[in-house]
Amino acid sequence: GQCRAICPTGAITIKNQNDYFWELVNDKTKRVVAQIAPAVRVALGENFGLAPGTVTIGKIITALKYMGVESVFDTSFGADLTVMAESEEFLERLEKNENLPLFTSCCPAWVKYADNNFPDLEYNISSCKSPQQMFGSVLKKYYKELDKEDGKETVVISVIPCTAKKAEASKEEFITDGVRDVDLVITTQELAMLIKDAGLMFENLYDDSFDMPFGLSSGAGVIFGSSGGVAEAVLTRLMKQKPSVSDKEIIFNNVRGMKRVKEANFVLDGKEVKIAVVHGLKNASELVKQIQNVEKTYDIVEVMACPGGCIAGGGQPTPMDEEKRKKRASGLYSLNRTAQIKSSEENPLIRDLFQGLLKDDHEILHVQKNHN
Ligand code: SF4
Repeated sequence: GQCRAICPTGAITIKNQNDYFWELVNDKTKRVVAQIAPAVRVALGENFGLAPGTVTIGKIITALKYMGVESVFDTSFGADLTVMAESEEFLERLEKNENLPLFTSCCPAWVKYADNNFPDLEYNISSCKSPQQMFGSVLKKYYKELDKEDGKETVVISVIPCTAKKAEASKEEFITDGVRDVDLVITTQELAMLIKDAGLMFENLYDDSFDMPFGLSSGAGVIFGSSGGVAEAVLTRLMKQKPSVSDKEIIFNNVRGMKRVKEANFVLDGKEVKIAVVHGLKNASELVKQIQNVEKTYDIVEVMACPGGCIAGGGQPTPMDEEKRKKRASGLYSLNRTAQIKSSEENPLIRDLFQGLLKDDHEILHVQKNHN
């Protein structure tokens, strides 16, 4: 606390977090695993002289392994899980015609802003945990047995583009029986510092791949890092389930890009479903007021606090401009295009998880606050 007070830039706090990272990876009683959010992979390279939008995920995995992380996973897998849980929640609400529009809950800065400024939205905001928290709780559950066997404690680190995710990870609702979903959150910038501390020549590292059994994610999970990505991923999943839908390409084009508020409509079981995508809290606030005054009606609203979405998060390399946002977003959309699996429910590892570890336990995917 004192450090924060005397250090206006927060540099001391950041250094302590990085010290904590080194402490964890050097502690033989801990098993350190990491998850990396989509937006990190198209921005970290900028710290090492690479162009914005360059995908460096393979090198990030190698760097973390050198630094002592046992297994490295993709938060896009967590995003696939979020798509499954959130689509299910949306279909239920649509059927009952209650708590619509459904507002997304992936962005903790938005969730906090809504808690403070629009408490009436409490039941409209999705009860789903964010991908970071969902995946954290799945990892903790997965390693529980193994921890008992080898007397270790699994620690989950997430690497994210966002400073708000630190506060999210320490919220009480994400601690179950004293166990946190996510133990340490480091930003893209902090990871760059750790890589430099370790003396690694990042640009020369070889490319490694994510670890099993969670090492495969869909293209839909990857674009979560860009504004419109969550809406598109949920749409992709709903369309797969109900293929009677109008032209996909046209709909997807409407939710991509940097426009302040983006809209798309489609028909699901004979009903018209209206989607809005908004980024930037000021824009979100204006849109919420329009919805509350019934000037606008929607069924799903995606909100991201950062203009452009997580690609432009507060933990990403600076300075930020429109050009960089576009390049980073296009890095993610190119990963989406080359992904063999496009839709979250087609991810075989997601299917395995629902038939195995999560068979009778979907609860860990939802916030256990006021929603039960
Ligand atoms: Fe964090 Fe910004 Fe992404 Fe929200 S939009 S999760 S604040 S990086």
